[in-house]
Amino acid sequence: MTERRAPAPAVGTPGDVQTTTPDPGDPETSTAPRLQPGDTVGILGGGQLGRMLAMAAAQLGLRSHVYCPDPDSPAFQVASHATCADYDDQRALALFADQVAVATYEFENIPAEAIAYLSTRSHLAPSEMALMTANDRLVEKEFLNAIGVATAPYRAAETRRELAEAADAVGYPCIAKTRRFGYDGKGQARLDGPGDLDAVWDALGPAQLIVEGVVAFDKEISVVTARTADGRSATFPVSENSHENHILARSVAPARIPDAAARTAADHAQRIAAALDYVGALAVEYFLTPDGGVLANEIAPRVHNSFHWTIEGAVTSQFAQHIRAIAGWPLGATDLVGAVEMQNLLGDAALDWLGVLADPTAHLHLYGKGTPRPGRKMGHVTWVRPHAGP
Ligand code: AMP
Repeated sequence: MTERRAPAPAVGTPGDVQTTTPDPGDPETSTAPRLQPGDTVGILGGGQLGRMLAMAAAQLGLRSHVYCPDPDSPAFQVASHATCADYDDQRALALFADQVAVATYEFENIPAEAIAYLSTRSHLAPSEMALMTANDRLVEKEFLNAIGVATAPYRAAETRRELAEAADAVGYPCIAKTRRFGYDGKGQARLDGPGDLDAVWDALGPAQLIVEGVVAFDKEISVVTARTADGRSATFPVSENSHENHILARSVAPARIPDAAARTAADHAQRIAAALDYVGALAVEYFLTPDGGVLANEIAPRVHNSFHWTIEGAVTSQFAQHIRAIAGWPLGATDLVGAVEMQNLLGDAALDWLGVLADPTAHLHLYGKGTPRPGRKMGHVTWVRPHAGP
């Protein structure tokens, strides 16, 4: 059911704002606080996602308090308050919890103890349960399959022998991944045949692993949906992504995929969010198979790189949407305002910021990071062009 829509943009693919509860503002049905302008949103993690969340909070009249162990965190440059402390510093965590109206996080590898502690001392959104489901690839895959969201075939492995058995069970070629702490292709290795078992075990083991069948995908796509504590949700149009060396390089929206696949991707993201009783923005990455099938690869319990284009390319940005969701505020419309393209500025590419600005239609974002190491996400560029039309 459509809850409400912002006035239709001049051009755009309809986004999707819906409700599953009768009265989103009813305090009787609401389980989360509704923040007031001037309240403080706590953000664990100080990278570019935290930075853009803090900027979105500021636009909405909210303060931000960024907590991160790294003194050079880009989010510190824009936050109202900062705590530079380790995630196991309980005193610092307690002070942080006392100062924020709601706490959120910008990456999923925050130590479990810190999250558990914060969830007892503050209002944490998304929940500890959502984070724990998303940050272990085995738990995540089991959850997805249990709620009817298809994935690649997989098996768990903890020993060299189990790795061989798992690879046999899912079939070659397959990919072994560490269950936790992997990102951008780190902690994973491909097996083309039994001859690769030793090298892969040497590279990844001993560790808790998951072995996945290699999906012969046509495209990689992703969806961000946002959900409030009282069950309202809004889903952005699907993004189509290209990677270089396992790192996201470019996204375009709307994705050039069949409508049925786009609907499945959006439905599955909403199903995941509902099953997790999720609050905030949630990203799901998918593989699109040659027969039009959609297989979930992973859940990110946060805003996502493949939706940075929403800052200029959608009626509401994913960052504003996340803040609105965790603040208990109405969600914004998710419609595209044009055909969008986003390119990451990885490593040295960011040094040519003047070259980017030579195109007056380019929206340049630099994250305020120091050294441009290879593959490091230094910024991104977005273009919004008139839609091709029907
Ligand atoms: P991940 O860290 O799981 O997001 O994987 C990083 C990238 O590796 C993905 O974006 C894909 O390009 C590739 N990849 C991961 N898992 C698979 C798979 N099961 N089949 C094919 N490609 C994969």
